[in-house]
Amino acid sequence: MQEIQIERTKNPKQKPTDQSKLGFGKIFTDHMYIMPYNKEQGWHDPKIVPYQPITLEPSAMVFHYGQEMFEGLKAYKAADGRVLLFRPDKNIARANRSNDRLCIPEIPEDDFLNALKTLVSVDKDWIPTQPGTSLYIRPFVIATDPFLGVRPSDTYLFIIILSPSGAYYESGLDPVKIWIEDDYVRAVRGGIGEAKTGGNYVASLAAQMKAHDEGYSQVLWLDGVERKYIEEVGAMNIFFKINGKVVTPKLNGSILPGVTRASCIDLCKHWGMEVEERRISVDELVEAARTGALEECWGSGTAAVISPVGTLRYENEVMEIGGGGIGPVSQKLYDTVTGIQTGKVNDEFGWTVEVQ
Ligand SMILES: *Cc1c(COP(=O)(O)O)cnc(C)c1O
Repeated sequence: MQEIQIERTKNPKQKPTDQSKLGFGKIFTDHMYIMPYNKEQGWHDPKIVPYQPITLEPSAMVFHYGQEMFEGLKAYKAADGRVLLFRPDKNIARANRSNDRLCIPEIPEDDFLNALKTLVSVDKDWIPTQPGTSLYIRPFVIATDPFLGVRPSDTYLFIIILSPSGAYYESGLDPVKIWIEDDYVRAVRGGIGEAKTGGNYVASLAAQMKAHDEGYSQVLWLDGVERKYIEEVGAMNIFFKINGKVVTPKLNGSILPGVTRASCIDLCKHWGMEVEERRISVDELVEAARTGALEECWGSGTAAVISPVGTLRYENEVMEIGGGGIGPVSQKLYDTVTGIQTGKVNDEFGWTVEVQ
Protein backbone atom coordinates (compact mmCIF):
# COMPACT_ATOMS: atom_id res chain seq x y z
CA MET A 1 0.00 0.00 0.00
CA GLN A 2 1.26 3.46 -0.87
CA GLU A 3 1.87 6.04 1.80
CA ILE A 4 -0.29 9.16 1.53
CA GLN A 5 1.52 12.47 1.85
CA ILE A 6 -0.58 14.90 3.89
CA GLU A 7 -0.45 18.67 3.53
CA ARG A 8 -2.79 20.30 6.02
CA THR A 9 -4.48 23.60 5.28
CA LYS A 10 -3.15 26.75 6.92
CA ASN A 11 -6.49 28.48 6.45
CA PRO A 12 -9.24 26.21 7.83
CA LYS A 13 -12.67 27.27 6.64
CA GLN A 14 -15.55 28.24 8.90
CA LYS A 15 -17.62 25.09 9.54
CA PRO A 16 -21.36 25.39 9.03
CA THR A 17 -23.03 26.32 12.30
CA ASP A 18 -26.65 25.49 11.46
CA GLN A 19 -26.86 21.76 10.63
CA SER A 20 -30.49 22.11 9.60
CA LYS A 21 -29.41 24.21 6.59
CA LEU A 22 -26.70 21.94 5.16
CA GLY A 23 -28.70 20.65 2.22
CA PHE A 24 -26.82 18.31 -0.12
CA GLY A 25 -23.53 18.73 -1.96
CA LYS A 26 -23.08 22.47 -1.51
CA ILE A 27 -20.35 22.72 1.13
CA PHE A 28 -16.92 21.09 0.93
CA THR A 29 -14.46 20.34 3.72
CA ASP A 30 -10.89 21.63 4.17
CA HIS A 31 -9.11 18.78 2.36
CA MET A 32 -9.24 16.54 -0.68
CA TYR A 33 -7.40 13.42 -1.81
CA ILE A 34 -5.70 13.26 -5.19
CA MET A 35 -3.72 10.48 -6.92
CA PRO A 36 -2.53 10.62 -10.55
CA TYR A 37 -2.11 7.73 -12.98
CA ASN A 38 0.18 7.36 -15.94
CA LYS A 39 1.35 4.35 -17.94
CA GLU A 40 4.90 4.37 -16.52
CA GLN A 41 4.10 4.71 -12.82
CA GLY A 42 0.52 3.42 -12.59
CA TRP A 43 -1.42 5.01 -9.71
CA HIS A 44 1.22 6.90 -7.76
CA ASP A 45 2.06 9.68 -5.26
CA PRO A 46 -1.26 9.85 -3.38
CA LYS A 47 -1.71 13.12 -1.51
CA ILE A 48 -4.16 14.82 0.80
CA VAL A 49 -4.03 18.56 0.14
CA PRO A 50 -6.18 21.60 0.96
CA TYR A 51 -9.46 21.54 -1.02
CA GLN A 52 -8.72 23.57 -4.15
CA PRO A 53 -9.50 23.98 -7.87
CA ILE A 54 -7.69 21.67 -10.28
CA THR A 55 -6.13 22.84 -13.54
CA LEU A 56 -6.84 20.81 -16.68
CA GLU A 57 -6.23 21.48 -20.32
CA PRO A 58 -9.43 22.35 -22.24
CA SER A 59 -8.52 19.35 -24.41
CA ALA A 60 -8.63 16.95 -21.41
CA MET A 61 -10.49 13.89 -22.64
CA VAL A 62 -13.06 13.87 -19.82
CA PHE A 63 -14.60 17.10 -21.17
CA HIS A 64 -15.25 15.62 -24.58
CA TYR A 65 -16.02 11.93 -24.33
CA GLY A 66 -17.14 11.51 -20.73
CA GLN A 67 -14.57 8.99 -19.55
CA GLU A 68 -15.21 9.29 -15.82
CA MET A 69 -16.36 7.14 -12.89
CA PHE A 70 -17.81 8.24 -9.58
CA GLU A 71 -18.91 6.74 -6.28
CA GLY A 72 -20.98 7.92 -3.32
CA LEU A 73 -20.93 6.80 0.30
CA LYS A 74 -21.22 8.37 3.73
CA ALA A 75 -19.38 8.67 7.04
CA TYR A 76 -21.39 8.98 10.23
CA LYS A 77 -20.54 10.07 13.74
CA ALA A 78 -21.92 7.60 16.29
CA ALA A 79 -23.30 8.80 19.64
CA ASP A 80 -20.16 7.45 21.37
CA GLY A 81 -17.95 9.54 19.05
CA ARG A 82 -16.81 6.70 16.74
CA VAL A 83 -16.60 7.56 13.04
CA LEU A 84 -18.20 4.87 10.85
CA LEU A 85 -18.20 4.08 7.14
CA PHE A 86 -20.97 1.82 5.76
CA ARG A 87 -19.79 -1.13 3.62
CA PRO A 88 -16.97 0.80 1.87
CA ASP A 89 -15.66 -2.51 0.44
CA LYS A 90 -18.83 -2.70 -1.67
CA ASN A 91 -18.28 0.80 -3.10
CA ILE A 92 -14.64 0.02 -3.84
CA ALA A 93 -15.49 -3.21 -5.65
CA ARG A 94 -18.22 -1.45 -7.64
CA ALA A 95 -15.86 1.43 -8.51
CA ASN A 96 -13.47 -1.04 -10.07
CA ARG A 97 -16.28 -2.76 -11.99
CA SER A 98 -17.25 0.70 -13.31
CA ASN A 99 -13.57 1.36 -14.10
CA ASP A 100 -13.37 -1.89 -16.09
CA ARG A 101 -16.44 -1.00 -18.14
CA LEU A 102 -15.14 2.52 -18.80
CA CYS A 103 -11.58 1.40 -19.71
CA ILE A 104 -10.14 3.17 -16.65
CA PRO A 105 -7.30 1.35 -14.84
CA GLU A 106 -8.40 -0.34 -11.60
CA ILE A 107 -7.47 1.29 -8.31
CA PRO A 108 -5.79 -1.02 -5.75
CA GLU A 109 -8.47 -1.78 -3.13
CA ASP A 110 -6.18 -1.22 -0.15
CA ASP A 111 -5.10 2.21 -1.46
CA PHE A 112 -8.75 3.12 -2.05
CA LEU A 113 -9.84 2.13 1.48
CA ASN A 114 -6.81 3.84 3.00
CA ALA A 115 -7.67 6.99 1.04
CA LEU A 116 -11.26 7.01 2.35
CA LYS A 117 -10.23 6.39 5.95
CA THR A 118 -7.34 8.86 5.99
CA LEU A 119 -9.25 11.71 4.32
CA VAL A 120 -12.30 11.24 6.57
CA SER A 121 -10.00 11.14 9.59
CA VAL A 122 -8.24 14.38 8.59
CA ASP A 123 -11.61 16.15 8.20
CA LYS A 124 -13.55 14.29 10.90
CA ASP A 125 -14.49 17.49 12.71
CA TRP A 126 -16.62 18.27 9.64
CA ILE A 127 -18.93 15.29 10.21
CA PRO A 128 -22.29 16.73 11.30
CA THR A 129 -23.96 15.11 14.29
CA GLN A 130 -27.67 15.92 14.18
CA PRO A 131 -30.06 13.04 13.37
CA GLY A 132 -30.12 12.26 9.65
CA THR A 133 -26.97 14.23 8.84
CA SER A 134 -23.72 12.71 7.55
CA LEU A 135 -20.50 13.42 5.69
CA TYR A 136 -21.06 12.55 2.02
CA ILE A 137 -17.95 11.11 0.34
CA ARG A 138 -17.53 11.55 -3.41
CA PRO A 139 -14.63 9.59 -4.99
CA PHE A 140 -14.21 10.02 -8.76
CA VAL A 141 -11.78 9.42 -11.60
CA ILE A 142 -11.39 11.62 -14.69
CA ALA A 143 -9.49 11.08 -17.95
CA THR A 144 -6.88 13.82 -18.41
CA ASP A 145 -4.98 13.23 -21.68
CA PRO A 146 -4.94 16.46 -23.74
CA PHE A 147 -6.24 14.74 -26.87
CA LEU A 148 -9.32 14.91 -29.08
CA GLY A 149 -9.06 11.46 -30.62
CA VAL A 150 -11.42 8.77 -29.37
CA ARG A 151 -9.62 6.15 -27.29
CA PRO A 152 -9.10 5.45 -23.57
CA SER A 153 -6.90 8.07 -21.92
CA ASP A 154 -3.36 7.20 -20.79
CA THR A 155 -3.53 9.54 -17.78
CA TYR A 156 -6.11 9.97 -15.02
CA LEU A 157 -6.76 11.68 -11.71
CA PHE A 158 -8.45 9.90 -8.80
CA ILE A 159 -9.92 12.50 -6.46
CA ILE A 160 -12.02 12.29 -3.29
CA ILE A 161 -13.96 15.25 -1.91
CA LEU A 162 -16.17 15.42 1.19
CA SER A 163 -19.41 17.32 1.75
CA PRO A 164 -21.30 17.60 5.04
CA SER A 165 -24.92 16.90 4.16
CA GLY A 166 -28.20 17.54 5.88
CA ALA A 167 -31.03 15.20 6.78
CA TYR A 168 -32.68 14.09 3.53
CA TYR A 169 -36.05 14.28 5.23
CA GLU A 170 -36.24 17.36 7.47
CA SER A 171 -39.22 16.04 9.41
CA GLY A 172 -39.04 12.26 9.28
CA LEU A 173 -39.63 9.96 6.31
CA ASP A 174 -41.78 11.53 3.63
CA PRO A 175 -43.39 9.54 0.79
CA VAL A 176 -42.38 10.68 -2.71
CA LYS A 177 -44.32 10.82 -5.98
CA ILE A 178 -42.69 8.98 -8.86
CA TRP A 179 -43.20 9.25 -12.60
CA ILE A 180 -42.85 6.07 -14.69
CA GLU A 181 -41.23 7.24 -17.92
CA ASP A 182 -42.49 5.64 -21.13
CA ASP A 183 -40.67 7.72 -23.74
CA TYR A 184 -37.08 8.55 -22.75
CA VAL A 185 -34.81 5.69 -21.60
CA ARG A 186 -31.78 5.78 -19.30
CA ALA A 187 -29.75 2.72 -20.26
CA VAL A 188 -29.77 -0.40 -22.38
CA ARG A 189 -28.29 -3.81 -21.81
CA GLY A 190 -24.73 -3.85 -23.09
CA GLY A 191 -24.50 -0.11 -22.43
CA ILE A 192 -23.16 1.59 -19.30
CA GLY A 193 -26.24 1.42 -17.05
CA GLU A 194 -24.53 -0.73 -14.43
CA ALA A 195 -21.50 1.59 -14.22
CA LYS A 196 -21.66 4.63 -11.95
CA THR A 197 -20.76 7.33 -14.42
CA GLY A 198 -21.88 10.80 -15.42
CA GLY A 199 -23.16 9.68 -18.83
CA ASN A 200 -26.10 7.89 -17.23
CA TYR A 201 -27.06 11.05 -15.40
CA VAL A 202 -26.97 13.41 -18.37
CA ALA A 203 -29.15 10.90 -20.21
CA SER A 204 -31.73 11.23 -17.43
CA LEU A 205 -32.05 15.01 -17.19
CA ALA A 206 -34.71 15.59 -19.85
CA ALA A 207 -37.09 13.05 -18.30
CA GLN A 208 -36.40 14.43 -14.83
CA MET A 209 -37.41 17.91 -16.02
CA LYS A 210 -40.55 16.51 -17.59
CA ALA A 211 -41.45 14.68 -14.36
CA HIS A 212 -40.82 17.82 -12.29
CA ASP A 213 -43.09 19.84 -14.59
CA GLU A 214 -45.84 17.29 -13.92
CA GLY A 215 -45.34 17.56 -10.15
CA TYR A 216 -43.37 14.34 -9.64
CA SER A 217 -40.05 14.33 -7.80
CA GLN A 218 -38.27 11.45 -9.56
CA VAL A 219 -38.36 9.22 -12.62
CA LEU A 220 -38.77 5.44 -12.60
CA TRP A 221 -37.12 4.01 -15.70
CA LEU A 222 -38.36 1.18 -17.85
CA ASP A 223 -36.03 -1.10 -19.83
CA GLY A 224 -34.51 0.60 -22.84
CA VAL A 225 -35.64 -1.95 -25.43
CA GLU A 226 -39.30 -2.78 -24.85
CA ARG A 227 -40.08 -0.02 -22.32
CA LYS A 228 -42.05 -2.65 -20.50
CA TYR A 229 -40.02 -3.83 -17.50
CA ILE A 230 -39.23 -1.83 -14.36
CA GLU A 231 -35.55 -0.90 -13.94
CA GLU A 232 -34.75 1.73 -11.30
CA VAL A 233 -35.25 5.31 -10.15
CA GLY A 234 -32.79 8.10 -11.09
CA ALA A 235 -30.34 7.49 -8.24
CA MET A 236 -32.16 4.74 -6.35
CA ASN A 237 -33.07 1.12 -6.82
CA ILE A 238 -36.75 0.22 -6.45
CA PHE A 239 -38.59 -2.32 -4.29
CA PHE A 240 -42.22 -3.42 -4.17
CA LYS A 241 -44.15 -5.50 -1.70
CA ILE A 242 -46.67 -7.47 -3.71
CA ASN A 243 -48.93 -10.04 -2.02
CA GLY A 244 -46.64 -10.20 1.00
CA LYS A 245 -43.45 -10.78 -1.04
CA VAL A 246 -40.64 -8.30 -1.47
CA VAL A 247 -39.90 -7.93 -5.19
CA THR A 248 -37.11 -5.96 -6.88
CA PRO A 249 -35.85 -5.96 -10.48
CA LYS A 250 -33.09 -8.47 -11.10
CA LEU A 251 -29.70 -6.96 -11.99
CA ASN A 252 -29.64 -7.31 -15.76
CA GLY A 253 -26.69 -5.17 -16.85
CA SER A 254 -28.58 -1.89 -17.23
CA ILE A 255 -29.41 -1.41 -13.52
CA LEU A 256 -26.94 0.07 -11.04
CA PRO A 257 -26.19 -2.51 -8.33
CA GLY A 258 -26.83 -0.41 -5.21
CA VAL A 259 -25.14 -1.07 -1.88
CA THR A 260 -28.39 -0.04 -0.15
CA ARG A 261 -30.29 -2.44 -2.44
CA ALA A 262 -28.03 -5.33 -1.40
CA SER A 263 -28.48 -4.35 2.26
CA CYS A 264 -32.30 -4.26 1.94
CA ILE A 265 -32.31 -7.72 0.36
CA ASP A 266 -30.03 -9.11 3.10
CA LEU A 267 -32.16 -7.60 5.88
CA CYS A 268 -35.52 -8.69 4.46
CA LYS A 269 -34.23 -12.26 4.05
CA HIS A 270 -32.78 -12.12 7.57
CA TRP A 271 -36.24 -11.14 8.85
CA GLY A 272 -37.69 -14.21 7.16
CA MET A 273 -39.43 -12.39 4.32
CA GLU A 274 -39.59 -13.87 0.86
CA VAL A 275 -37.50 -11.78 -1.55
CA GLU A 276 -37.68 -12.14 -5.32
CA GLU A 277 -35.18 -10.58 -7.72
CA ARG A 278 -36.90 -10.89 -11.07
CA ARG A 279 -38.35 -9.07 -14.06
CA ILE A 280 -41.42 -6.99 -13.17
CA SER A 281 -43.48 -5.59 -16.01
CA VAL A 282 -45.21 -2.26 -15.64
CA ASP A 283 -48.46 -4.06 -16.55
CA GLU A 284 -48.03 -6.40 -13.57
CA LEU A 285 -47.49 -3.37 -11.38
CA VAL A 286 -50.57 -1.53 -12.63
CA GLU A 287 -52.64 -4.69 -12.16
CA ALA A 288 -51.25 -5.22 -8.62
CA ALA A 289 -52.11 -1.62 -7.77
CA ARG A 290 -55.65 -2.02 -9.12
CA THR A 291 -56.35 -5.20 -7.13
CA GLY A 292 -54.69 -3.94 -3.95
CA ALA A 293 -51.93 -6.58 -4.12
CA LEU A 294 -49.33 -3.78 -4.25
CA GLU A 295 -48.85 -3.16 -0.54
CA GLU A 296 -45.70 -1.07 -0.47
CA CYS A 297 -43.08 0.58 -2.65
CA TRP A 298 -39.77 2.19 -1.72
CA GLY A 299 -36.52 3.37 -3.27
CA SER A 300 -33.07 2.55 -1.85
CA GLY A 301 -29.89 4.59 -2.24
CA THR A 302 -27.11 6.17 -0.21
CA ALA A 303 -28.57 9.69 -0.29
CA ALA A 304 -32.02 9.03 1.21
CA VAL A 305 -31.25 5.46 2.42
CA ILE A 306 -34.94 4.45 2.11
CA SER A 307 -37.44 6.58 0.26
CA PRO A 308 -41.07 5.46 0.64
CA VAL A 309 -43.09 5.91 -2.55
CA GLY A 310 -46.64 7.16 -1.98
CA THR A 311 -47.68 7.65 -5.61
CA LEU A 312 -46.65 6.11 -8.93
CA ARG A 313 -47.91 7.42 -12.25
CA TYR A 314 -47.79 5.48 -15.51
CA GLU A 315 -49.37 7.15 -18.52
CA ASN A 316 -52.83 8.16 -17.24
CA GLU A 317 -52.88 5.73 -14.32
CA VAL A 318 -52.17 7.31 -10.92
CA MET A 319 -51.46 4.62 -8.35
CA GLU A 320 -51.65 5.54 -4.70
CA ILE A 321 -49.80 3.00 -2.58
CA GLY A 322 -50.71 2.16 1.01
CA GLY A 323 -52.94 5.24 1.18
CA GLY A 324 -49.96 7.40 0.20
CA GLY A 325 -48.33 6.79 3.60
CA ILE A 326 -45.17 5.06 4.84
CA GLY A 327 -45.32 1.26 4.84
CA PRO A 328 -44.07 -0.86 7.75
CA VAL A 329 -41.26 -2.56 5.78
CA SER A 330 -39.97 0.81 4.51
CA GLN A 331 -39.98 2.19 8.04
CA LYS A 332 -38.26 -0.89 9.52
CA LEU A 333 -35.58 -0.88 6.79
CA TYR A 334 -34.96 2.84 7.28
CA ASP A 335 -34.68 2.48 11.07
CA THR A 336 -32.42 -0.57 10.83
CA VAL A 337 -30.07 0.62 8.08
CA THR A 338 -29.65 4.12 9.55
CA GLY A 339 -29.38 2.54 13.02
CA ILE A 340 -26.47 0.34 11.88
CA GLN A 341 -24.85 3.24 10.01
CA THR A 342 -24.86 5.43 13.11
CA GLY A 343 -23.97 2.72 15.62
CA LYS A 344 -27.39 2.76 17.32
CA VAL A 345 -28.37 -0.72 16.16
CA ASN A 346 -26.04 -3.69 16.75
CA ASP A 347 -24.08 -4.35 13.53
CA GLU A 348 -24.51 -8.11 13.43
CA PHE A 349 -23.46 -8.28 9.77
CA GLY A 350 -20.14 -6.48 10.24
CA TRP A 351 -21.16 -3.79 7.75
CA THR A 352 -19.54 -0.80 9.42
CA VAL A 353 -15.85 0.11 9.29
CA GLU A 354 -14.44 2.37 11.94
CA VAL A 355 -12.21 5.32 11.03
CA GLN A 356 -9.59 6.12 13.66
C1 LIG B 1 -25.69 5.27 -6.88
C2 LIG B 1 -26.91 4.83 -7.58
C3 LIG B 1 -27.88 4.02 -6.96
C4 LIG B 1 -27.86 3.65 -5.51
O1 LIG B 1 -26.73 2.95 -5.11
P1 LIG B 1 -26.28 2.95 -3.57
O2 LIG B 1 -25.01 2.19 -3.59
O3 LIG B 1 -27.35 2.26 -2.81
O4 LIG B 1 -26.13 4.37 -3.18
C5 LIG B 1 -28.95 3.58 -7.74
N1 LIG B 1 -29.07 3.92 -9.03
C6 LIG B 1 -28.17 4.72 -9.65
C7 LIG B 1 -28.36 5.05 -11.08
C8 LIG B 1 -27.06 5.19 -8.95
O5 LIG B 1 -26.17 5.98 -9.57
